[in-house]
Amino acid sequence: MEPRNRRSFLKDLGLGTTAFSIAGEQEKSMPGRPTVGGEETAISSTLMTIAAHPGDAFFAMGAPVANQIHHGGHGVFVSLSLGEKGSATIPPGEYGALQREATVRAAQMLGAQAEFLAYPDGQIPINDEASLAVCDMIREYQPAIVVTHWRGSWHKDHRACYEIVDRAIFYASLPAFTRKQPAHRVKKLFFAENWEDAEDFRPDTYLDISAVFERWTEACAVFPMWRGENGFRYDDYYRSLARANGCIGNFEYAAALMSPAEQLMRRVPSL
Ligand SMILES: [Zn+2]
Repeated sequence: MEPRNRRSFLKDLGLGTTAFSIAGEQEKSMPGRPTVGGEETAISSTLMTIAAHPGDAFFAMGAPVANQIHHGGHGVFVSLSLGEKGSATIPPGEYGALQREATVRAAQMLGAQAEFLAYPDGQIPINDEASLAVCDMIREYQPAIVVTHWRGSWHKDHRACYEIVDRAIFYASLPAFTRKQPAHRVKKLFFAENWEDAEDFRPDTYLDISAVFERWTEACAVFPMWRGENGFRYDDYYRSLARANGCIGNFEYAAALMSPAEQLMRRVPSL
């Protein structure tokens, strides 16, 4: 494919565009599984990230949120914990409060909202209570797009988040689950690239984040751990990753995302 054609093809996959459709022909959900995939999303639609810890929400998932807002949409960051056990020197109670403060501030810088479920860091439970709490968040904000963790993670909280979101999207879509808010069907689900969730991560979508790169990294810098204070150089890693993904996507900077298998599956009457 010519670079120019490849570029415009990839641009058509932009989350903020009305043309976002990996599998345009797949209009209906799979039988017995009303989950995600196949539909176009409106330019004004909401993108919700659901992360185990605030750092993941901003470092690995924040650029698509910033991009969605840049294109006239809305963004919500949901953190399942405060990541309060992430500091070697500051006690969890104090660090959790700092993390919450940083999350709210960073979300404000991007024009997004921040929500917390505040399960204990390191002990996020995989159960129906958590899944229904996330289901309620989905029904309240009605995101067209959800970005979350890939299951191939060595971090148990990240694997828990993947499972919780999988159930939550299912519960949210079914009117038979009577909750405060009516049912809502998430149209697209993506898994974010995260250094902790690298096992079998295969990106299929490269999102142009060039216009929001500076704004996104400024928001990340609100978190002291961005600068490597907890032992990992998030700043270097995620900036470089965005640059490297930009090379593959033929943008200045890009975020690489992975779709669930059922979202990529196309059901067509003929080839
Ligand atoms: Zn994490």
